[in-house]
Amino acid sequence: MIEKRQFYINGAWVDPASPRDHQVIDPSTEEPCAVISMGDQADTDAAVAAAKAALPGWMATSPEDRIALLEKLLAVYKGRLDELAQATSMEMGAPIDMARQQQVMAGVGHLTNFIRAAKAFDFIRPLGDHAPSDRIILEAVGVCALITPWNWPENQITLKFGAAAVAGCTMVLKPSEESPLNAMLFAEMVDEAGFPPGVFNLVNGDGTGVGTQLSGHPDVDMVSFTGSTRAGTAISKNAADTLKKVHLELGGKGANLVFADADEKAVKRGVLHMMNNTGQSCNAPSRMLVQKDIYEAAVETAAEVANGISVDLASKEGRHMGPVVNATQWGKIQDLIQAGIDEGARLVAGGTGRPEGFNKGYFVKPTVFADVNNQMTIARTEIFGPVLSIIPFETEEEALEIANDTVYGLTNYVQSTDGERTNRLARQLRSGMVEINGQSRGAGAPFGGMKQSGNGREGGAYGIEDFLEIKSVAGWAAE
Ligand code: NAD
Repeated sequence: MIEKRQFYINGAWVDPASPRDHQVIDPSTEEPCAVISMGDQADTDAAVAAAKAALPGWMATSPEDRIALLEKLLAVYKGRLDELAQATSMEMGAPIDMARQQQVMAGVGHLTNFIRAAKAFDFIRPLGDHAPSDRIILEAVGVCALITPWNWPENQITLKFGAAAVAGCTMVLKPSEESPLNAMLFAEMVDEAGFPPGVFNLVNGDGTGVGTQLSGHPDVDMVSFTGSTRAGTAISKNAADTLKKVHLELGGKGANLVFADADEKAVKRGVLHMMNNTGQSCNAPSRMLVQKDIYEAAVETAAEVANGISVDLASKEGRHMGPVVNATQWGKIQDLIQAGIDEGARLVAGGTGRPEGFNKGYFVKPTVFADVNNQMTIARTEIFGPVLSIIPFETEEEALEIANDTVYGLTNYVQSTDGERTNRLARQLRSGMVEINGQSRGAGAPFGGMKQSGNGREGGAYGIEDFLEIKSVAGWAAE
């Protein structure tokens, strides 16, 4: 059993002020795989104090020095990919090959993009030719609390760390208590790369403990949070008393609009995208809207594709689907599948209960419902599991209305060979991101949502801007 009870504070691994053991559970076996400690107010205060003390020095470093440290970190990270993948796979259930190829590599991509974006970033900008002595200085927001979920842990930690580090902010990371091991490896890497003490700190804990202590802390200037809309609301309320900035990346209920003129792989691509990471992605295309002319054929294809997905232990190599993260999520997903059945949706693949051959582990059958209408519980709730809802439509206007009829607005998808239509929909869909015909977003493209999917943007130059204050200076001396 792995025992990792210490926190990383002010450049050193330190014991918790008062140890409170927490078992990390391997979702494939339901057995504990590690013990960590949850922090308390004294640990949070020590980490915030270290970040506050390190801030003036770190803010005063040149962007070039911060970029050089990020480059070192990237090199260290690349040297420990397999270790990270093993930890991630064990603690949150991503199959090991998927963890190696997608989870861990997301971190390489983001750090690389931040380095590139930082090299081209102007921290001091002219206002314009009409105001020659004005300058806009972009400077660090200050001490940032980074609160991250378990579903794409390296992705979320590097998206926040890379941007904050380039911006000159200091940080306290509270990773998800479901997946703390990869985060502690990341802290070791930050240490090895040589970031000055206090620039980055890590305290483990849960939402009601360290999470709440950070969001209400008077010395924290900003909370950058990725997780559920429920927690995002709680954090915003708790942060209000100190008026700190709150940057939120929350849930989603993405629509995937499949028109009759879509390419022939569109339905298969949509199902596989939905099931990737066992459906545990905020940007999952969980509502597949299909035009009536191709509806029955699409339902048949979707069922076939879902039935063809094998489910197995996260530790096994191969392209199967792993378990969901924990017992609570498993139970919630079962209830939602049952709600789909009870409310009259047509179950065409999967269903409740574990897949055949499993009597333990948080495994869920890849599930597809057809004939869903957008008012049903499964169309409105973020399930965060491998459950796809197929909704029929006739016209483009109807598809747009259904797609936008949700409290969320993270990513929507459009499948059609009519370029005028896809561009029109890209403008009309109310979401932070729109992806057309399976095209993924480019390196450094901003990731984030509208409505209850949040207000932040992560990745590349847009992500760096979220960690900067805008200072307007008049009377700048000629240089
Ligand atoms: P969660 O909200 O339960 O937990 C996320 C993190 O917040 C954890 O570290 C948790 O300990 C902490 N937390 C929980 N309650 C808190 C509180 N009241 N105050 C402070 N911190 C608190 O979410 P989860 O189950 O870990 O992750 C799944 C959710 O994350 C889904 O809703 C998913 O859509 C969302 N998500 C969003 C994005 C995005 O970028 N938009 C990316 C990945 C996941």
